[in-house]
Amino acid sequence: NSRRIDVITVFPEMVEQVARFGVVGRAAERGLIELSAWNPRDYAEDRHATVDDRPYGGGPGMVMKVAPLHRAIQAARAADPRPARVIHLSPQGARLDQDRVARLAACERVIYLCGRYEGIDERLLEAEVDEELSIGDYVLSGGELAAMVAIDAATRLVPGALGHEDSAAEDSFATGLLDHPHYTRPEVYERRGVPEVLRSGDHGAVDTWRLKQALGRTWLRRPDLLAGRELDERQRRLLDE
Ligand code: SAM
Repeated sequence: NSRRIDVITVFPEMVEQVARFGVVGRAAERGLIELSAWNPRDYAEDRHATVDDRPYGGGPGMVMKVAPLHRAIQAARAADPRPARVIHLSPQGARLDQDRVARLAACERVIYLCGRYEGIDERLLEAEVDEELSIGDYVLSGGELAAMVAIDAATRLVPGALGHEDSAAEDSFATGLLDHPHYTRPEVYERRGVPEVLRSGDHGAVDTWRLKQALGRTWLRRPDLLAGRELDERQRRLLDE
């Protein structure tokens, strides 16, 4: 069963790009995901296709109006009978991490809601949004890049999206650790060589080396990931060898 992703955005062409290249592009081609963008301008109430208005209470900037967004969401919901989870990309949301990405990947229908300007009328958020997600503690000018980040990261985890040549199970965070370093040919580049063990053909030694590298760089770069965490049995066995 394929994943259906709908994005509510005033810049549909921007979001559609995420399904044109690389892993996400391939997943779309193979029918693993289906992506559609909905422009609230097409659901505006006036002939100027107005989607924003001045804020009550005054102040700078504009606020996205309820009705065009509400109608665009209804149209997206009606495009597929499965119930959709509506996610508002917002700097006020829960921080996106690999666990949340895995939950998105497991969801068959997601509608991403992208804000612009000063944001969206609160009443639309109260009525329609199930969850708010942030991609980090900084402010973007719109939710589109955040939606594209979520779509890219989640699609990699959809079964069949990655060929067996690149497995998500070994990536940073999947194991609770950062990934080990990678090398490919040539054997020497500008006097820098490849670690001997990787050319030894000894798979056990390679596994142990990679685990040690992953542990070492996690400890140096992201000690927070190790706090309160125990090695699993395979990892302990490898280190004991
Ligand atoms: N006034 C809003 C606030 O401070 O919470 C910020 C509005 S921002 C200029 C415009 C839109 O960009 C937001 O409605 C949201 O959709 C999106 N956005 C900005 N930063 C984001 C972030 N870190 N993660 C996800 N979406 C973000």
